[in-house]
Amino acid sequence: MAPIQNVKGMRDHLPSDMMLRQYIVNTLTRISENHGFEPLQTPIIEYAETLEGKLGDDEKLIYRFEDHGGRRLALRYDQTVPLARVTAQYAGQLSFPWRRYAYGPSYRGERPARGRYREFYQFDLDIVGSSSPLADAEIIAILCEALAALGFPGFVTLLNHRQIIGGIARVSGLSEEAAGGVYRAIDKFDKIGPDGVRTELLKSGITPAAADHILELVQIDGTPDEVLHALSQQLADDERATAAIANLRAVLAGLTAMGVPPDQYRVAPRLARGLSYYTGVVFEAITPHWPEGSLLGGGRYDDLIGLFAGRQIPTVGLAFGIDRLHDVMLELNLGPRPRTTALAFVTLFSVDQVADSLALAAELRAAGINTVIALEPGNIGKQFKEADRRGVRFALVLGPDELARGEVVVKDLQRGEQRSLPRAAAVSLLAEALNEGK
Ligand code: AMP
Repeated sequence: MAPIQNVKGMRDHLPSDMMLRQYIVNTLTRISENHGFEPLQTPIIEYAETLEGKLGDDEKLIYRFEDHGGRRLALRYDQTVPLARVTAQYAGQLSFPWRRYAYGPSYRGERPARGRYREFYQFDLDIVGSSSPLADAEIIAILCEALAALGFPGFVTLLNHRQIIGGIARVSGLSEEAAGGVYRAIDKFDKIGPDGVRTELLKSGITPAAADHILELVQIDGTPDEVLHALSQQLADDERATAAIANLRAVLAGLTAMGVPPDQYRVAPRLARGLSYYTGVVFEAITPHWPEGSLLGGGRYDDLIGLFAGRQIPTVGLAFGIDRLHDVMLELNLGPRPRTTALAFVTLFSVDQVADSLALAAELRAAGINTVIALEPGNIGKQFKEADRRGVRFALVLGPDELARGEVVVKDLQRGEQRSLPRAAAVSLLAEALNEGK
């Protein structure tokens, strides 16, 4: 018999995994809605041509297939291109600037590795139809707020601007076409280091002198003000880079005004970001506890939606990679680790008490307490064990004596305490425990 297995690079998520994943998604949803973002859902399958011509070198990773009618279709690669399609298709029904969030799976034919899958979930946030630097700042502020809320220690958001890298390439004597090679080489900086980047630059036909100049500029380090000051001097002759630096300064002013702690972001001229559709500010969050790669990234892409809409609709956004956040949280032991969704386990004393026990369970649920009920009456000790094995904190017993007194026995399996309480007091006790756990 063939082994029972799932497809490589695609994962099953059992309940203990799912509870942490849902905690992450719920946290991101809460923060997004707190900033007035609205939900959007698009299909997992798009016409292949919708995705083609938008992703640069990464286009080869798209999963493409033909359907029964011979149509060329593709699995969604990210949630950005579908957003662009939706914006163009429904522009008349949307009011801009439009803050939208979206959560769902994306598919890429990558070589699977730790933190890199073929099916993975992204939570995207975008502000569509605004070129204000306050939009960039808001997205970056939410990113920082979310990583702090999830408890990531020592994370930093690296900021850069596409036209700073473009300017670095231009002042090093490179043509606009050669600048593409510079993005690709610099994108690998954290993986292959400065020597590796130099080799890559030379391979793409850049002279040693230009390569050294580029490397010197992309490694400028310091506080955001120091880095931007140094860059503004080095790139003074390049108009677009000068405008980019002014734009980045406005974004930084926004972050300060929004109260984002200054240790949560840095200007890093070496940050390129792979996707080819970025046009302005780009950013990526990293933590020293996860040297394998970025936690997430995003940026401004003012031209992508125009490919569909026929007019420029400036947009800035980011994609949280839920799988990566989840992997790192597991490794760093972050976030809550509930073993079950239920707080209460209602036992069945005997057949005669089934109806009363079901009524008690209904009363607990009505008070907002997640409650499971035993399915077989009998030995209460065994039922306590079952509740404990499932990780449910409270087990409740409603026998004939308790019923006669209008009470319930509440056993706190976590603390090993047991009390008989009037019914209303038992419900309040669990409601309090629920609120403490929130
Ligand atoms: P991108 O759409 O490439 O900008 O990616 C945005 C985020 O999605 C990344 O920072 C990752 O957290 C996540 N991500 C991208 N590709 C993968 C993958 N193959 N497996 C898991 N997560 C991914």
